Amino acid sequence: MSRLLLLLPTTTYRTAAFLGAARKLGVEVVVASERAHVFQQAQPGRFLSLDFLHPDQAARQVVEFVATRPIDAVVGVDDATTVLAAVLSNALGLPHNPVRSTAAARDKYRMRTLLRGDGVPVPPYALRSFDDDPVVEARRTAFPCVVKPLMLSASRGVIRADDEAQFVGAVRRLERILRTPEAAADGEAARQVLVEGFIPGREVALEGLLVKGGLHVLALFDKPDPLDGPFFEETIYVTPSRLPSTVQAEIAACTARAAQALGLRDGPVHAELRVNRHGPSVIEIAARSIGGLCSRTLRFGTGLSLEELILRQALGMEIPSLERERRAVGVMMIPIPRAGVLKEIRGQTEARAVAGIDEVAITAHPGQDLVPLPEGASYPGFIFAGAESPERVEAALREAHRRLEFVVMAPPNPSEAV
Ligand code: ADP
Repeated sequence: MSRLLLLLPTTTYRTAAFLGAARKLGVEVVVASERAHVFQQAQPGRFLSLDFLHPDQAARQVVEFVATRPIDAVVGVDDATTVLAAVLSNALGLPHNPVRSTAAARDKYRMRTLLRGDGVPVPPYALRSFDDDPVVEARRTAFPCVVKPLMLSASRGVIRADDEAQFVGAVRRLERILRTPEAAADGEAARQVLVEGFIPGREVALEGLLVKGGLHVLALFDKPDPLDGPFFEETIYVTPSRLPSTVQAEIAACTARAAQALGLRDGPVHAELRVNRHGPSVIEIAARSIGGLCSRTLRFGTGLSLEELILRQALGMEIPSLERERRAVGVMMIPIPRAGVLKEIRGQTEARAVAGIDEVAITAHPGQDLVPLPEGASYPGFIFAGAESPERVEAALREAHRRLEFVVMAPPNPSEAV
């Protein structure tokens, strides 16, 4: 029986999906996370606590572990684990993406530099430091621009500015976000800021699988809600895309070039691109699969999940089909309506009753602090739909969302509201 080391950060949404896929494939799983697991002592061979922030130390631990329990593949499930997965695979002599490629995909500045160096269309960009005076920087910035951190994900800290005053406000706000202990762990990167030209246009997300350097498009999602800022909250994803097939082909070619420019060769990629009359530009390409619970929208061949494809590839098992099912599908990452403490979400039964709705998954719990972007990073839940056309999927998602009613208590001190 094959044995898989699954890197599961404690904050991930993906635990059930990956463990379910491993069970279906009949592989033994060793779960590694940043904290000691409650079952670790009872079943020492099945759980490992690793320091995710110190890959070399984690690699030593894993090398020791495999002396008695060999591992056939290491899979990281989220952004936070892609580099570690490459480092551990390297230490174990398993096939993997180059460590420097996964690291470049995690660092927005390095990513931009490698992409531009290879002629992949990207927004104009400049690296700035929080030590620079933002008032002075604002004078040499072209507007509209986007201010963003180097390392965070899920649009955290990404802010559009249309003029000098907004720029100064955005930089100061980002600096505050990056002072949190979690972000400060990124060291020097948390003292820097990337300033990019704002690219207008339609946004898409491409879910792909790299096999020996070749890109297979698993799904191209349209994002029908305009993402014009000042913050960039993801909402609806629908596939298949309604863009003309020639544009879809350009998007795929651009993503393949981006993966190649970074040196990524195997495993999942998730790319965000903007398309306008000049063609596609890459906003980002990550060496991981789609986040949150969104992979629930995807089924391949005879019903395989995205996680099964990923595990099969990592374990060198045959992949029967990379063809997505025929029906149109979509997901809405439910937006945070306002800052405060969540009391209740009403109307869930009514939302589930909408034709085409497959599931309404509420992940926030009563009492949870809802923190909108740009400070926050999680969604209160997800709505899933499937129908014969992308238009119907989109309409079903909107109607189900309309039926949800959020009961949110204002934060105790209004000055703390964001
Ligand atoms: P993250 O990795 O946190 O998701 P991104 O760099 O992908 O950060 O930015 C998040 C979102 O912000 C993008 O999906 C896009 O909607 C918007 N965005 C980021 N950069 C730009 C840009 N240069 N032009 C237009 N929109 C942008």
